[in-house]
Amino acid sequence: MPQTSYPIVWDLETFFQGGSDSEELRQHLDDVKDRLKTYSAKLNQFETPTSSSEADHIASLIEEGSNVSQHIRQAGAFITCLEAQDMTDHKASTLRSEVMELNATYGAAFNRFKQKLAQTEVSVWQELLKHEQLAELSFVLNEWREAAQEQLSEDEESLITALSVDGYHAWGQMYNTIVGEMTVNVTIDGEEKELSVGQANNLLSHEDPNVRKQVYEKLEAAWKEKESLFANTLNHLAGFRLNVYDKRGWDNVLKEPLDINRMQQETLDAMWGAITKHKQPFVDFLYRKASLLGKEKLDWYDLGAPTQENTQTLSYDEGAQFILKHFKQFSPKLADFAEHAFENGWIEAEDRSGKRPGGFCTGFPLSEESRIFMTYSGSMSNVATLAHELGHAFHTHALKPVHPLNRRYAMNVAETASTFAEMIVADASVKEAESDQDKIALLEDKLQRSVAFFMNIHSRFLFETRFYAERKNGFVPAERLNELTDQAQREAYQDAVQSTSPSYWSNKLHFHITGVPFYNFPYTFGYLFSLSIYARALEEGVSYEDKYMALLQDTARMSVEDLAMKHLGEDITKEAFWEKGIELCKRDVEEYLDLTSK
Ligand SMILES: [Zn+2]
Repeated sequence: MPQTSYPIVWDLETFFQGGSDSEELRQHLDDVKDRLKTYSAKLNQFETPTSSSEADHIASLIEEGSNVSQHIRQAGAFITCLEAQDMTDHKASTLRSEVMELNATYGAAFNRFKQKLAQTEVSVWQELLKHEQLAELSFVLNEWREAAQEQLSEDEESLITALSVDGYHAWGQMYNTIVGEMTVNVTIDGEEKELSVGQANNLLSHEDPNVRKQVYEKLEAAWKEKESLFANTLNHLAGFRLNVYDKRGWDNVLKEPLDINRMQQETLDAMWGAITKHKQPFVDFLYRKASLLGKEKLDWYDLGAPTQENTQTLSYDEGAQFILKHFKQFSPKLADFAEHAFENGWIEAEDRSGKRPGGFCTGFPLSEESRIFMTYSGSMSNVATLAHELGHAFHTHALKPVHPLNRRYAMNVAETASTFAEMIVADASVKEAESDQDKIALLEDKLQRSVAFFMNIHSRFLFETRFYAERKNGFVPAERLNELTDQAQREAYQDAVQSTSPSYWSNKLHFHITGVPFYNFPYTFGYLFSLSIYARALEEGVSYEDKYMALLQDTARMSVEDLAMKHLGEDITKEAFWEKGIELCKRDVEEYLDLTSK
């Protein structure tokens, strides 16, 4: 094995020197501010085109906009990195609000431009789209146009936007405020501790079942105590949403989330249909896990608990070598890209205090580079996370040749490249595990994810659709919300759990996010979509890599149905497509059942 030592701390100096005191960044921000001013003024003068002779002008406004937006995002990415590497960097937080303001100004001016453009009369519109630069963007431009046509008048929409600050988003903020003030007292090792709900949630995967049970009961009680408040926040934000939909003449509550994810209802139905039909192996897994924990059925607080520990550890360099070795077997381009990232300080992995928890990948559009953030402490799950984030960076890399407006992929395909990369590493680590115990622990980890996507997310989707259906007829009280949640969980887990979490509707932040509605099914879509691509790569080997990259390049310029048809030759409105991804997960169950029967 070659003797390498990759930097474990990232290099941010290439972008702006001097961290949050950077003069270069100051200059950059001032510069963007000026450019944005000029640009917004141009956009505010823009009126709906009446002839295709305006195509050049429109194309140049779009170009200038992409450029300004890339400058804002370059600064935003840098600040994100500063905040993550040192949570006490208060100067970075001040810079953050500056960038948020730039974003808001840009967003408002650009939205007006989109609205005006979208009102173009159809024959002129068709002529405009023949323009060389605009033709390339036709998918996105048509999307703007359709969205604008399905909305109310400009005045009405801007009134809705204005009212939503206090009448809609405020309910989400209210939720966060109440949750932020909640605490739970738990006793661990004879010591009583006051925990935030986030800290308490983490203890639900504690190895000691008594700790898990206690935490679960305390949490349920804490949520119960506040349930009338949360019934208010949830009902009112949902009520606002439904009212807006009603005024726009939209009767399907899924219309907006489906549009955002560029997918059809048939696709969503096929996905859940396939999952519902193939739950038995995952039910078997849950029963086996229960018996390993000495129970007949799992309780809700056992779902995230490990039955064995994976003791394997790898140094950072070993982890990197492991990733590179296995990437190479699927895609030398992916491996070369990852090696470049390791060598050139694209990754912040050091295990030290003061860092933000979790991991992310962010792109610096002007430099065409990415940076990855995580904390590496040597576990196999760290290695998988690192591979996951490298996958995100590779997606950004694959999109380099396409226009910036054609790089804005939706949430359901956002995890395509990351899940793909993570699967390569997760599968390899199961294969190369040193002991049965390690192997079981790794498989359990993988299966836990399948259960989360096929059962937990399914329960959220079932609950949310049913809640919205009832909300149309009026306020849904807390008792009913508890009931709906319990039913959805029992159904989604096919009664393989002893207890449920009736408070889930209140304790899951995702139901209270106002930015995006139905923040659940895109997760499952992304997971299974990526698994089918992975299944294809397993069949075709290295020869698949160019096709894979071509698929990534198209992720933000067509519907997901077209994407799958063009690059996989698959009709994703049919259950057969979704069954292929589920099949891979079933094999994990078989192996797990086999290993744990000894
Ligand atoms: Zn991700």
